[in-house]
Amino acid sequence: MQLPQSIRHHIDGKSVDSVHGGTFDVLEPTKNTVYTTAAAGDAADIDAAVAAARRAFRDGPWPRLRNRERARVLNRIADAVEAQDETLAAMESFDTGLPITQAKGQARRAAENFRFFADLVVAQTDEAYRVPGAQLNYVNRKPVGVAGLITPWNTPFMLESWKLAPALAAGCTVVLKPAEFTPLSASLWAGIFAEAGLPDGVFNLVNGIGEVAGDALVKHPDVDLISFTGETTTGSTIFRNASDRLKGLSMELGGKSPAVVFADADLDAALDSTLFGVFSLNGERCTASSRVLVERPVYDEFVARYARRAAAVKVGDPADPATEVGALVHPEHYERVLGYVEIGKTEAKLVAGGERPAHLPEGNYLAPTVFADVPRTARIFQEEIFGPVVAITPFDTEDEAVELANDVRYGLAAYVWTNDLRRAHDVSGRIEAGMVWINSHNVRDLRSPFGGVKASGVGHEGGYRSLDFYTQEQAIHVTLGDVHTPRFGKDGDQ
Ligand code: NAD
Repeated sequence: MQLPQSIRHHIDGKSVDSVHGGTFDVLEPTKNTVYTTAAAGDAADIDAAVAAARRAFRDGPWPRLRNRERARVLNRIADAVEAQDETLAAMESFDTGLPITQAKGQARRAAENFRFFADLVVAQTDEAYRVPGAQLNYVNRKPVGVAGLITPWNTPFMLESWKLAPALAAGCTVVLKPAEFTPLSASLWAGIFAEAGLPDGVFNLVNGIGEVAGDALVKHPDVDLISFTGETTTGSTIFRNASDRLKGLSMELGGKSPAVVFADADLDAALDSTLFGVFSLNGERCTASSRVLVERPVYDEFVARYARRAAAVKVGDPADPATEVGALVHPEHYERVLGYVEIGKTEAKLVAGGERPAHLPEGNYLAPTVFADVPRTARIFQEEIFGPVVAITPFDTEDEAVELANDVRYGLAAYVWTNDLRRAHDVSGRIEAGMVWINSHNVRDLRSPFGGVKASGVGHEGGYRSLDFYTQEQAIHVTLGDVHTPRFGKDGDQ
């Protein structure tokens, strides 16, 4: 993998520096050394990118192509993305600290997003109603316009694809503002899109700090909608800033997802799954099972086995194929996670981890950390930590399990472990979460809704919901017969 000397914006088909020349340093997480600089966009760069996107939307072919034609380009993008699997995995692992084995496959998932939305727009049907002899009503579906896409640093390329694919499939033009911690893989998009034949100006990318470049994108009067994935507090700020112009908003926000393990569950499977659910992707995962609620009769055994397994998880160099947990993305984030670990030590019983592994004296490494007997009032029970840290809490009854599961501000995902059919459905239905998995970790079908409730999000994506967000359904009413029209002022006609 060749590292770029600098990372630039991509505006109107060209690679450019910031109008005002600003840059920021980009670190890799195993030693926190600066490996490159990226262009730091501000309002001037956002202006240029939005103007290019607007021109491409107003005058260019992309929004006017037949769905089949756009789908062909999307499929070529998918092929090009897949062909980058090795490079992309190496880049993501290097830039984010994800273990290489988990970074592999990100390109396949990203490619799948393009293929999926290509298929969907080709198959899309819209409503039409006929009132015999009177009216034909039909839906004229149109792309909304210029979409602002703002994305986080966990699995950055894949999450960017989750927004780019439906926005482009719908015929929108876009300005992407990737996360400043991890700009490396996003620099692949321009080449991939050009090779696939996406017209210039349809895709624009501005790097930069969220409060500057992201903020300018949100507030820009010529951006029609914002799709945002990131922290709940950032989501609230964006919500406020987009309100003056009543922009369309889709928000995928934070989580503190419960895994509820009943005593009758397959405990071996629940153990594998809940460990994977919170320690994969370094625990930097929105749907992480970061609270494990365990029924009292199996609680002690579960905690003991969980702690032993967590202590045996291999923490190390993200590039090493044996590594299960790599380095956290950035020293600022690492400090934040360590802060929670210290808080946790005062709130609950530490049964594994809780410190930097002895064999890794530098870099953002944390041993998988398990707290048991965590009370519901604890900050480590209530707040998203976004690292390899889990809170385990016992419960006695089904009602108490549901109450504990719901007693946080978030409502993204939940996992229910039981072999009792009635209980599985009942408890799943009562949990306040956008998505529930029964006897599994997060495995998704792209057709189903994705999103959270409460502080975890606004709106759902997935399947046609994503296309609905990037399109308007214009209702056209065609008169087929006589229309009864009261003749106001008819005397004036004589
Ligand atoms: P973040 O909110 O700090 O940043 C996300 C993006 O927003 C970045 O590109 C950032 O530059 C930008 N940003 C920051 N402030 C902004 C502002 N004022 N205006 C406009 N843009 C701004 O989030 P993060 O730390 O990058 O990502 C981690 C968070 O993302 C976690 O809370 C995680 O749960 C959440 N997440 C949610 C999902 C989901 O689908 N629900 C998926 C992945 C991550």
